[in-house]
Amino acid sequence: MIYQKPKGTADILPGESEVWEKIEKISRETFKVFGYQEIRTPIFEDYNVFARNVGDTSDIVTKEMYDFHDKGNRLLALRPEGTAGTVRAYVENKLYGPEYPKPYKVYYMGPMFRYERPQSGRQRQFNQIGVEALNSESPEIDVEVISMAILLLNKLGVHNVKLVINSLGNDDSREKYRKALIEYLEPYYDNLSEDSKKRLYKNPLRVLDSKDEQDKKIVANAPSILDYLDDYSTKYFEKVKKLLSDLEIKYEIDNEMVRGLDYYTHTIFEIMSDSKAFGGKWTTVCAGGRYNGLISQLGGPDKGGIGFGMGVERLILLLKQENPDFLNAKGPKLYIVSADSQGDKLAFELMDKLRKKGVYVEKSYSNAKVGKQIKDASRRNADYYVVIGKNEVRSHQLKFKKLDSDTEKLASFEELISNPQDILN
Ligand code: ATP
Ligand code: MG
Repeated sequence: MIYQKPKGTADILPGESEVWEKIEKISRETFKVFGYQEIRTPIFEDYNVFARNVGDTSDIVTKEMYDFHDKGNRLLALRPEGTAGTVRAYVENKLYGPEYPKPYKVYYMGPMFRYERPQSGRQRQFNQIGVEALNSESPEIDVEVISMAILLLNKLGVHNVKLVINSLGNDDSREKYRKALIEYLEPYYDNLSEDSKKRLYKNPLRVLDSKDEQDKKIVANAPSILDYLDDYSTKYFEKVKKLLSDLEIKYEIDNEMVRGLDYYTHTIFEIMSDSKAFGGKWTTVCAGGRYNGLISQLGGPDKGGIGFGMGVERLILLLKQENPDFLNAKGPKLYIVSADSQGDKLAFELMDKLRKKGVYVEKSYSNAKVGKQIKDASRRNADYYVVIGKNEVRSHQLKFKKLDSDTEKLASFEELISNPQDILN
């Protein structure tokens, strides 16, 4: 019996895992200069951290969650996203106390789970790198979070993206808009999809996010949320736009964008690409927004927050297309070829000494012919190789040859060990 991985999951194998490490490293470095620190929360949480007693009507929560009862009959769910768990931890650990910085800035990276139909860039276990600025309510923070996402993409070598923003306003604005939307949609009731019918009175904003073609046509002429924002929400959104322009960040406004979760308020955004990697179809790589009601819904103070989640699988598809160099995994600095058993003994010692100095070295572990070992060096993409046989054992003089050129360097065994970086550069 050969087992297969569950549908919608992936093995990240050597070769690819280096890419993940590099993305994670650049993310950490980027977040650090903005003052974000890592938070690690459980992969599963109480079901209601996400559902909030079915206050959430989104697909993610109502249809796609991996929820289950454990052996103690607790209702749990594998996290479908990072924000709710982070807010749960923030509230439980009272990180809003006066002794903590405000905003409280954190980032996370790890797997998320959604029961979706797997396809390119869409899995059931996928990964997000995300940030949250908790205990914050300021257009500056919103723009900081957006600019950080764009900077991260740029640092990864992705430049061809567009930023799309919208505002959902505060509760008052949303309530007014909700009413207007119901009024607009009611005459079309019979033509709406079953999902949208169900959502019309519970959360009509969800209808705007419907993927159903008929729904999309109906929604095309719906009133715009932007016409229902109250004074505070309008000014807030104006300020966000002004600050984006001050930082020379280009954006488009999409007043139909509502995002996939119910807790958003005010600023929401998506960073999209129509790269060949996505068959030229506009695809969201990074998405986020402000959630001013969520902290209090989860038992904390009435404070706001904003964050984003970047889908790592989609990011890698994009990187492969837009910045192929990013993926070139480095081979060993040096590959030691041994010509005979005496040489092999010295090679083994040399390898040990160099590794202790932090140099990536490989050798052959078989008694293959010299030519075969050199081929192996090339297959492993080594920078240099050196052949060690009787003569080298006697003289301790070594000749290093660069694999992709005629460059040769001479150095003694001892020189190499005391100064490997210089000799193998
Ligand atoms: P979509 O509309 O593409 O389903 P979403 O609105 O459900 O996206 P979010 O919940 O905002 O997505 O998650 C943020 C990012 O996480 C997405 O932009 C995407 O890059 C990634 N993502 C979401 N779901 C998946 C998935 N099933 N597989 C891979 N990546 C995903
Ligand atoms: Mg989705």
